[in-house]
Amino acid sequence: MLLDQLSILIAIGFSGASLGLTLFMMWIVGRGETHLLSWSLALAFILVGVAFFGSVVENYNATFLLVSFLFLIAGFGLLYAGSAKFCSGQADWPLAMTLVILGGLSTTVAFALGYSGIGTMAGNILLGILMLTTGYRYWIARAESPLLMTANAALYLIVSVSFVLCGYALAHEGQYILTAKPSNWAEDINSIVVIAGLTGIGTLSLTLNQARIANRHKREAMTDALTGLLNRRALLQNPSDTMPAGTALVAMDLDYFKKINDRFGHDCGDQALKAFAELIRANIRPTDLAARMGGEEFCIVVSDENPRAPTAIAERIREQVEAMTIPTAAGPIRTTVSAGISYSSGDETLQSLLIRADEALYEAKSEGRNRVRTSSLNSLAA
Ligand code: GH3
Ligand code: MG
Ligand code: MG
Repeated sequence: MLLDQLSILIAIGFSGASLGLTLFMMWIVGRGETHLLSWSLALAFILVGVAFFGSVVENYNATFLLVSFLFLIAGFGLLYAGSAKFCSGQADWPLAMTLVILGGLSTTVAFALGYSGIGTMAGNILLGILMLTTGYRYWIARAESPLLMTANAALYLIVSVSFVLCGYALAHEGQYILTAKPSNWAEDINSIVVIAGLTGIGTLSLTLNQARIANRHKREAMTDALTGLLNRRALLQNPSDTMPAGTALVAMDLDYFKKINDRFGHDCGDQALKAFAELIRANIRPTDLAARMGGEEFCIVVSDENPRAPTAIAERIREQVEAMTIPTAAGPIRTTVSAGISYSSGDETLQSLLIRADEALYEAKSEGRNRVRTSSLNSLAA
């Protein structure tokens, strides 16, 4: 072999230690990300296990081999819990603990009875099962990032198989009692697979974590913090995109909102804005887009074959706002809304639709508010 087993173990030690330290630092910066702590602790356990295994490579000692397995099993159990947390938001401690206890007990009992070979088989197989279940978590969560998550699941599967093969090789050779460190073709494959696999898993896990943070920031940058609707920036990402014929834009503005703020206070005003946003949400379909354009101005992009749908939605919202009472600490708030609608003829940009909807909204305001008006250009075309 190009590298002896001890050199490979030292390489695993260095790459694992730097990865563990990186994960720990990342957890220090963002304490809420508890999977990072689980991962870094997992690596610490795994490294202690690898160190004990390294000492067995130098001088065979059954107790050290057992201790090595116990640390490795605990480490991979933590890795499973952290990965389950990362993939689903839940650490799944019950399964992690069950597998760790099962692995720890079966290995310890076998070693205690003098069957170090059987203990080694049990340890390897449990490690394989832990890696397999971890990979499975990435597999079922792969929708978030299909390529990276599938690659991670595949790496876990490969490493898992290499551990199971170590158990199989011992069983196949009938080595129920070891008198020297396990040494066979499966151990050779396992050493290489573990260093390549764990380095790959570490890199992929870090990339997945960073990708998730980047996506969260992007989502936050596109969301209005008060109402949770899209914000102006999100809606106007591509203002010069042409809107297909039939797309309608409904611009809405709460009436005399300044008076509400003056009378009830800004916080109660915010409550009214939230209630209005909820009402919009309840009145649109998943294919429609709703955004808070700023202040008390909102807009909906409706894509419906039926040309009457946008007017019906706007009228329904207007009626519901008129009927709504928002209970606040400063007393019940009642308000009304005005709306302007523009329809795309097929070659219109979002920007120009917005301008025409605003003109219609201005008409609704000047005609007395609490009403819906459609852009006159559309009325002429209709
Ligand atoms: P109009 O019927 O003509 O639309 O009258 P208006 O009072 O609603 O319009 P105007 O544009 O004069 O006032 C809008 C008010 O919205 C002014 C501002 O105090 C309030 N506002 C803007 N942003 C927020 C916000 O985030 N929270 C609260 N509570 N009020 C806001
Ligand atoms: Mg207003
Ligand atoms: Mg306004």
